[in-house]
Amino acid sequence: MKQTFDTLVVGAGYAGAVTARALAEKGRRVLVLERRDHVAGNAYDRPDQAGILIHQYGPHIFHTNDKRVFDWLSRFTQWRDYRHRVIANIPDDRGGRMTYPVPFNLTSLETAFGMEEGKRLGDKLIAAYGPEKKVTILELRQNADPEIAALADYVYEHVFVHYTMKQWGQKPEEIDPATTARVPVFLSRDDRYFQDAYQGMPLEGYTPMFQRMLAHPNITVELGCDALERLDVSGDTLRVDGEPFAGPVVYTGQADELFRFRFGPLPYRTLNFQFETLPRDDFQGYGTVNYTVDREYTRITEFKHLTGQVLPGKTTIVKEYSKAYGGILGEIPYYAIINPANRALYDRYRGLAEHFGNLHLLGRLAEYQYYNMDAIAARALDLAERL
Ligand SMILES: Cc1cc2nc3c(=O)[nH]c(=O)nc-3n(C[C@H](O)[C@H](O)[C@H](O)COP(=O)(O)OP(=O)(O)OC[C@H]3O[C@@H](n4cnc5c(N)ncnc54)[C@H](O)[C@@H]3O)c2cc1C
Repeated sequence: MKQTFDTLVVGAGYAGAVTARALAEKGRRVLVLERRDHVAGNAYDRPDQAGILIHQYGPHIFHTNDKRVFDWLSRFTQWRDYRHRVIANIPDDRGGRMTYPVPFNLTSLETAFGMEEGKRLGDKLIAAYGPEKKVTILELRQNADPEIAALADYVYEHVFVHYTMKQWGQKPEEIDPATTARVPVFLSRDDRYFQDAYQGMPLEGYTPMFQRMLAHPNITVELGCDALERLDVSGDTLRVDGEPFAGPVVYTGQADELFRFRFGPLPYRTLNFQFETLPRDDFQGYGTVNYTVDREYTRITEFKHLTGQVLPGKTTIVKEYSKAYGGILGEIPYYAIINPANRALYDRYRGLAEHFGNLHLLGRLAEYQYYNMDAIAARALDLAERL
């Protein structure tokens, strides 16, 4: 190991692959160990049996305001111009269903309350807060006008609370009031889910983008290799393949697993993805539809809308079911459950890592934090710069 490489990177997702490439370009010889049989981490995409490009670990839409990250990634891919739009699908009062954009906006208002009434309420909100503003439901609730306060309750009930309960397995009283307070109503007709300056999908998919990123003479990638079988952090000195290793080790897996769950497991939510290929051109007309009030799944994504792939007569959708992560074989920890107790537990693991001057925890698992792809890419570029 030390004769051939001077840097070890564990994981070939955004955190690992971006760090590896940035270091390789500075002359480091980098070994990347990836447990799965593919690169790209949770952004991995591949054609399914019907030939439809799917995201195996859930739909990923790239968006950022960070020009540095966008330019850097653009070296490895062209982009398909894509603006993500999300629709809420909820039961209506007449036994049918209605759909409107989320985040809740002026169009949603007119659909939920009828054109005339919705427009009147919208005008009232704009008069109170100004056009194109994102107003939180906490602010709306504090308004002396009972109609505006009632609107906050409507959005809480129809867009936020049931969805959040499904996603996090919580009861309403367990939902952090600070999170509720941040739920926005957008006083606009802009129905894009993100307003970032740069948005899109890698033209040929995420996986080819990662393959190009990792194709560098200074990088060797070993797939299907669990780094915990080679990396030993049980003593005072970090060891790789039994030998002390003094070069940088960038670890992007779970922090608790790295230290053999010494202080107990960190809690996570996991997801069950149910993929279905249907014999029709189009299933739902949108990339993602959120079921914000009923149904066991949280949302349905139809991949062709994201990728722009043209394949008549068939389409693949995925339904997402959220549940507690039990750490059983094959289950994937997707979302850190961030609260003071879990953060304190994580900090104990981080303390163990800091004991080794050359061990760097990076990424959504190793840092026990939710990060979007662009944020992780930025953190990886920063770390590589420091190293
Ligand atoms: C359902 C879902 C949807 C998302 N949608 C979006 C979106 O639309 N837009 C957005 O910007 N972000 C999105 N994200 C966030 C995005 O997935 C993360 O920002 C990104 O995956 C972080 O990259 P990472 O490298 O930190 O982690 P990962 O992608 O999880 O990569 C870590 C890698 O390390 C490997 N590994 C772990 N342990 C070991 C070991 N012991 N040995 C070897 N390899 C190991 C894993 O196999 C994995 O490949 C979404 C996340 C989820 C869960």
